Amino acid sequence: MLKLYNTLSNEVEEFQPLNPPRVGMYVCGPTVYDVAHIGNFRTFLFADLLRRYLKYRGYDLHHVMNITDVDDKIIGRAVAEGVGLREYTDKYIRYFFEDFDALGAERPEQVLRATDHIPEMIELIDALGRNGHTYQSDGSVYFRISTFPGYGRLSKINLEGNQAGASERVDADEYTKEDVRDFVLWKAAKTGEPSWETHYGAGRPGWHIECSAMSMKALGSTFDIHAGGVDLVFPHHENEIAQSEGASSQPFVRYWVHAEFLMVEGEKMSKSKGNFYTFRDLAAKGFAPRAIRYLLLSAPHHKQLNFTLEGLRGAESTVARLNDFKARLGEYNAPEGRTPALTDMTARAQQQFEAALDDDLNTAEALAALHNFVRDTNTALAEGAVRKDDQSAMLDLVDRFDSVFNIFGEVEREMLDAEIQALIDERQAARAAKNFARSDEIRNQLIARGILLEDTKDGVRWRRHQGVD
Ligand code: AMP
Ligand code: ZN
Repeated sequence: MLKLYNTLSNEVEEFQPLNPPRVGMYVCGPTVYDVAHIGNFRTFLFADLLRRYLKYRGYDLHHVMNITDVDDKIIGRAVAEGVGLREYTDKYIRYFFEDFDALGAERPEQVLRATDHIPEMIELIDALGRNGHTYQSDGSVYFRISTFPGYGRLSKINLEGNQAGASERVDADEYTKEDVRDFVLWKAAKTGEPSWETHYGAGRPGWHIECSAMSMKALGSTFDIHAGGVDLVFPHHENEIAQSEGASSQPFVRYWVHAEFLMVEGEKMSKSKGNFYTFRDLAAKGFAPRAIRYLLLSAPHHKQLNFTLEGLRGAESTVARLNDFKARLGEYNAPEGRTPALTDMTARAQQQFEAALDDDLNTAEALAALHNFVRDTNTALAEGAVRKDDQSAMLDLVDRFDSVFNIFGEVEREMLDAEIQALIDERQAARAAKNFARSDEIRNQLIARGILLEDTKDGVRWRRHQGVD
């Protein structure tokens, strides 16, 4: 039986969905002002692992992820580039999913954009107003926290004193509110910024209302799992509870699940600290996507994970070793029959794997079960003990492991622009060094991936081969 640590109860609980076998899960998605970094992807890959394990356990999962496609940073950057909000965010949504797919994450059943759900947000604000939770001031609408006694239940936050600034994402205090703890639901329009016409006046949604409106629209007033990074506990998820329960008078979410940070030298990896790598940076350095995925999943989500390039190199050789193992096992010419000790060993490995994941998704233990299995199987192969029935049970088990971890095999994917450029730069360097063998090799490698090079007076240009000449 799957157990999950629930931030709300502060306990590891047995997972009992509301309407089994159906499970509704909402994951806070990216804010698309820039390319996501691998810290963000630690959280999304954790959600992917949870997704895959729920399916492994036979649940009928409905997984919803939002895209925050309007906020201060997005607006600022779109205005600076002189492009519309939609055009700006479309580009970063495309980049996000290129990385998401390359990292082997499965697409959620539904991906919802905030700006496509303004009417639902307004309806929710109306409902909060009817229940006496809101007030208006200078064209903005606020949630009055003193009207919601349960506030603070999730984050256990002590509301004495000013909590603004507790997270990087507290709404800026440039709006007029009665109490510093109150938060904005609807922001009055400012000149030069995109806005929507509503009966509250022209404006745009606050960040928190998006997730309440979209999650309840897709999954109902009460649903099973809500996930995100730990930095979302306060204020984002605390505010979501206040909004959703304040409007519906129903319990909002049954299990709150949060992923700890990806760290760099003792600090959270973040855009603002500048200590981040994107998937593209690492792919351009030649790291295999599967190695990045393996590394990000290798520590349980309730523990911080320190990122180093050395650690990533280690993950790369581990993943390569696992893939060699699978190939060797598949090619092995086994005699008919089975070896009872190996039947037991394989069944035990599966039990250990499942017990580890049932235990609040302990990925480190689950991978240890996989590595032990690989070691024991290698020994059996060397001893010639593996027979046909064992071999197929072992290969089945590898596939079972992989339906959750997805670290075997390479995905066929388009090369990213940054990877192409890195190879072109390497080819130029090889030519300068008169290493023509290497430069030809790179050229052929690019052609094989559908990338054509053209030498011009301004340097090397490239384009994607469209399939017809
Ligand atoms: P954002 O695009 O800023 O809304 O963040 C997307 C997701 O990434 C959220 O769930 C964050 O909690 C999560 N996140 C941000 N930084 C990190 C990090 N260093 N490690 C793990 N998760 C993170
Ligand atoms: Zn959210």
